[in-house]
Amino acid sequence: MTSARLLPADDPAAIREAAAALAQGRLVAFPTETVYGLGADAANGRAVARVYAAKGRPSFNPLIAHLANVEAAEREGMFNAAAKTLAARFWPGPLTLVVPRSPGCRVADLATAGLDSVALRVPDSSAAHALLSAFGGPVVAPSANRSGHVSATTAAHVADDLGDSVAIILDGGATKIGIESTVVDCTGNRARILRPGAVTRAQIATALGVETLGTGGLGANPGASAAHTDAVVAPGMLASHYAPAASVRLGVREVRPGEALLNFAGAAVPGAQEAAAVFDLSPTASLEEAAANLFTALRALDRPGVTAIAAVAIPGEGLGEAINDRLRRAAAPRDKN
Ligand code: AMP
Ligand code: MG
Repeated sequence: MTSARLLPADDPAAIREAAAALAQGRLVAFPTETVYGLGADAANGRAVARVYAAKGRPSFNPLIAHLANVEAAEREGMFNAAAKTLAARFWPGPLTLVVPRSPGCRVADLATAGLDSVALRVPDSSAAHALLSAFGGPVVAPSANRSGHVSATTAAHVADDLGDSVAIILDGGATKIGIESTVVDCTGNRARILRPGAVTRAQIATALGVETLGTGGLGANPGASAAHTDAVVAPGMLASHYAPAASVRLGVREVRPGEALLNFAGAAVPGAQEAAAVFDLSPTASLEEAAANLFTALRALDRPGVTAIAAVAIPGEGLGEAINDRLRRAAAPRDKN
């Protein structure tokens, strides 16, 4: 059973409806040249939270924001020379560039997992281009499958996996490439491959006129292949995860002097009056709202002089699993791996 509407991707009326659904914060699956994407308005934290909930992801990995063209992408991020070269050579196409967020970047904190960088891509599919142009803003679109399942390459796959969570599935037939985009980090002096994908290492090196790319992330892992992406990326990616400078205490029942309080559902916490700062992730106990606010909250509470961030217990079901995963990581001793 599916409640999603399956519409033809080449129908302008369907594209208009899909863009309107995105603007309302609803989820739209659409074909790109790599795999089907589970699309949401990247600027709307709650819409982004719905993506994690629909996929059933146990953690908040940063997502790729998709744009209609290079100019639109350059509004969201700051492109160094390498990024400009790669964008000119491979966009539209199966290449994702991680660049520093621009001052006007609209992508929600939850979509970048609180990082100062943002992953951007201009996909090469007429349906994706039409949808992104009609919508006019960045759209996150991880593969349209439940977490742990293989990436969806047909509209039927999407309907099987996510038919109950998406408003519209734009059916553009089977995707051409079937493997994910290559992710290249262009935030430093040397470009590095963070995830292998449809554009090869050799193609990237050639475009940049270099013999080898920077190492680190997956670039340093010769055993990595696109098929293993999710499993292999996670450990290598830890250094690129946002972690507050202040230490974090979990499941607190009271706030100690000097601590900031990360609250949920307006819980009455002794010591809250004297807290250095207070942020309630969701006064109405909505896990979706809490997810959307999580990184903004951590940043807001992570200020000089705060001895620790004291976090109350958050329910573990649904999006609570990923919220708790993130809080546990923030609370874990730093080994900077
Ligand atoms: P997907 O699930 O296909 O959207 O994949 C997103 C990929 O891009 C994952 O490998 C992420 O870890 C990576 N990624 C997204 N944003 C960033 C970022 N700001 N820094 C580093 N890697 C990122
Ligand atoms: Mg995937």
